Amino acid sequence: MSDCIFCRIAAKEIPAKVVYEDDRIIAFDDIRPQAPVHTLIIPRTHLASLNEAGPERADLLGHILAKAPEIAEIKGVKASGFRLVINTGPDSGQDVFHIHAHLLGGRKMQWPPG
Ligand code: 5GP
Ligand code: ZN
Repeated sequence: MSDCIFCRIAAKEIPAKVVYEDDRIIAFDDIRPQAPVHTLIIPRTHLASLNEAGPERADLLGHILAKAPEIAEIKGVKASGFRLVINTGPDSGQDVFHIHAHLLGGRKMQWPPG
């Protein structure tokens, strides 16, 4: 989708600090980090949110989860711990409507989240 900022980052039309990429996903640092490590993991395929993904995307969504520890390792937070967050829909505060998992780490985090 040409008007989607994350599609444009995946297509390298907009610069980003890329941490990891393969044929299905790309991970890059968030432009407004909320923790010392704040990396976004997105599918290359445009999907607006988890609400639109559906069970037929289980492999792709699983790939994002399965790769998270490797991406955390690259960022140096695999052992210390990290949090994955997928904001979905209005109450979550989702702002960019291309599925993304926030990988946050590098500081002690609170539970429950605000
Ligand atoms: P959401 O609120 O949708 O879950 O999170 C969207 C995230 O995307 C925010 O943390 C925001 O800082 C990040 N973001 C928005 N635009 C850009 C951009 O152009 N580049 C990068 N690297 N991150 C972005
Ligand atoms: Zn997109």
